[in-house]
Amino acid sequence: NEPLIEVSNLKKYFPIKKGIFNRTVGHVKAVDGLKFTIFRGETLGLVGESGCGKSTTGRTLLQLLRPTEGEIMYEGRNMVGLPAEELRKMRKDMQMVFQDPYASLDPRMTVGELIAEPLDIHQVVTGQERARRIDELLEIVGLNSRHADRYGHEFSGGQRQRIGIARALALNPKLIVADEPVSALDVSIQSQIINLLQDLQEQFKLTYLFIAHDLSVVKHISNRIGVMYLGGIVELANKQDLFENPMHPYTQALLSAVPSPNPLIKKDRIVLQGDVPSPANPPSGCSFHTRCHACMDICRIDKPELQDVGGRYVACHLYTNA
Ligand code: SF4
Ligand code: MG
Repeated sequence: NEPLIEVSNLKKYFPIKKGIFNRTVGHVKAVDGLKFTIFRGETLGLVGESGCGKSTTGRTLLQLLRPTEGEIMYEGRNMVGLPAEELRKMRKDMQMVFQDPYASLDPRMTVGELIAEPLDIHQVVTGQERARRIDELLEIVGLNSRHADRYGHEFSGGQRQRIGIARALALNPKLIVADEPVSALDVSIQSQIINLLQDLQEQFKLTYLFIAHDLSVVKHISNRIGVMYLGGIVELANKQDLFENPMHPYTQALLSAVPSPNPLIKKDRIVLQGDVPSPANPPSGCSFHTRCHACMDICRIDKPELQDVGGRYVACHLYTNA
C-alpha cells in the first residue's frame, strides 16, 4: 500500500492575546506534533471528543490553516511553505466536506452555482461543458438536474450534504477530508450518506480522512482509525484491532461507550472522570494522565511517544517497556 499523504511533527498553535496591547500571552496547542500516513484508497478515521484538535488537523492538512510547524508530504512533495500558486494547484486534488455545507456557503447561490464554484475558481470548464458537469455531479450524488436552479434552504439536511459532496467532487479530487459529515443528520440519513461516500470512494478511487467524535460512526467506513486526545494521536490501528483489543486507556474508555451490536455481551462502561484539560495548558507528561485509571508515577513526568506496538501505534507507558 502506497502512501498518499505523510504527516510528520505537525503542529498548529493559536496565539492567546490579551490586554490593550494585544500581547501574546500563550498558545492553544490545538495540534501538537502529529505523525501519521494516509494510504492511497483507504479511509483513515479520526476520532476524539470535541476540542481534541481533529478538525484543526483536517484543515491544517489541506492548508486551509497554515501549520505552525511540521511536514505534509503529498505524493512526495512537502506542501508546507509552498508558494501560493503551487499550493493552489495541489489543492485541486484535496477537498473538504463539512458538517453543514450550507453554514459556510452563500445562501444566494443556486445549487448549480455552488457545485460549479470550484470549477469556476480553477477555470477548468466553460459554457455547455460546465452545465453538463453540474448535471453529472448532481446525478453522481443521487440528486437530479432539476435541482440545479434551486437554493440550499429548499433541501433537507441529507440532500444538502449530497450537494456538499457534489461540490467536493467537482475537481476530481484524490483526497477528501470529511469533517463530521453526518453528525448533524438523523441516524437513518447518516447511513445513506456513509454508503454514498463508500460508493463514491470505489467509483473514483478516493482516499478519505473521515473525522467524527463517535467511534460507531467511523466503524463502518474506516480501514484504520486514529484516536486523538488533546492535540495528539494516542492510538492508531486497523479497525478490527482497535475494536477487538483497544490498547490505550482512552481508546478503551471511548469504546466502552459504543453500544455492542450483541446485547448479550455485557461490557463494563468506563466512565472518564473530570473534564478534558485545556489545550492552552495541557498536563505535564502524558496528556491523559489526569483522567487515566492506570496512571503511574512516570506518566506525570514523561510524555509517552506514539510507537509501534505489535503492528499498531500506541502512546502509553503501559507498553513502553514491553
Ligand atoms: Fe495512562 Fe500513563 Fe498510559 Fe497516559 S501513559 S494513558 S497516564 S497509563
Ligand atoms: Mg470539529
